[in-house]
Amino acid sequence: MNHRKVIIIGTGPAGLTSAIYTARADLKPLVLEGEQPGGQLTLTTEVENFPGFVDGVMGPELMSNMKNQAARFGAEFVATLCTEADLSKRPFTVKASNGETYTADSIIISTGASAKMLGLPNEKGLVGRGVSTCATCDGFFYRDRVVHVVGGGDTAMEDATFITKFAKKVYIVHRKDTLRASKPMQERAFNNPKIEFIWDSAVTEIFSDHSGVTHVTVENLKTGDKEKRHTDGLFYAIGHTPNTSFLKGQITLDDNGFIKTINGPATNVPGVFACGDVQDSIFRQAITAAGSGCQAAILAERFLEGH
Ligand code: NDP
Repeated sequence: MNHRKVIIIGTGPAGLTSAIYTARADLKPLVLEGEQPGGQLTLTTEVENFPGFVDGVMGPELMSNMKNQAARFGAEFVATLCTEADLSKRPFTVKASNGETYTADSIIISTGASAKMLGLPNEKGLVGRGVSTCATCDGFFYRDRVVHVVGGGDTAMEDATFITKFAKKVYIVHRKDTLRASKPMQERAFNNPKIEFIWDSAVTEIFSDHSGVTHVTVENLKTGDKEKRHTDGLFYAIGHTPNTSFLKGQITLDDNGFIKTINGPATNVPGVFACGDVQDSIFRQAITAAGSGCQAAILAERFLEGH
């Protein structure tokens, strides 16, 4: 009863694109929806850079459309979280939080990566209303505005630099007085007249009104001094956590826990494919995730034909 040709774990743009392709190939995929069905895009508001939507589309609507498209071709969805996987032999086995155990000839992993948050009490409710974890997605909305970016790595430098195309001023708040970012990225930020650094500091409070974020409190971690500063946007660039804890010891991960892929979405385990942010710490876009989901589906189909 619980055996399938293909199981897809995760339902962001990568997983749902895999579901559309494998369902259309008549593989009748079973899709385990995960903790946040629809993935990170369900936490955003407007998506303006997904091709095909002249006037943009709301993130939740885009994901709901992808799910319905996959369901139309026969993909079966179960609202459950994958908690354990045995990829050591075929058929592969996965256990889920609904108490069920499923087996499959092929598995597509698209569990994504969660952006790290600061953990401030009101931040989650302000995502899409001034708090963002994706400069490429949201920078555009801050034309002539003031923005604070938190972090000191490559992402923070890249995000801050990107946002200066739109914003009039970008402050980088970093908890140390040296950056982790690579030298060229640092130089680019240092040389940008719109960017200013606030060193040894942390954002400790966010203030908002009906329209979204208005101010943040920035605390100097050395002196304890606090300053309430006006800002229109607060971007987090403090890293991502790939959702791979259920895979430990089953598949090759990199030092940061992302799945290592070879030749597109192939992994070191024949028959197991990975797509989207769970294997991509660089691009992290809905469209790149969807593209890799398509590749994973096609490779899974070829694998099943060959076995
Ligand atoms: P990193 O882990 O490299 O950097 C995270 C930054 O956030 C660090 O400066 C860290 O501070 C800070 N930070 C972490 N947690 C907190 C917290 N709770 N509060 C405040 N600050 C915090 O992540 P990135 O996303 O920047 O980069 C991930 C990987 O992707 C890296 O390997 C990077 O090189 C790569 N990358 C490459 C790019 C490119 O080549 N174009 C672009 C973007 C990323 P601290 O320094 O004190 O630890």
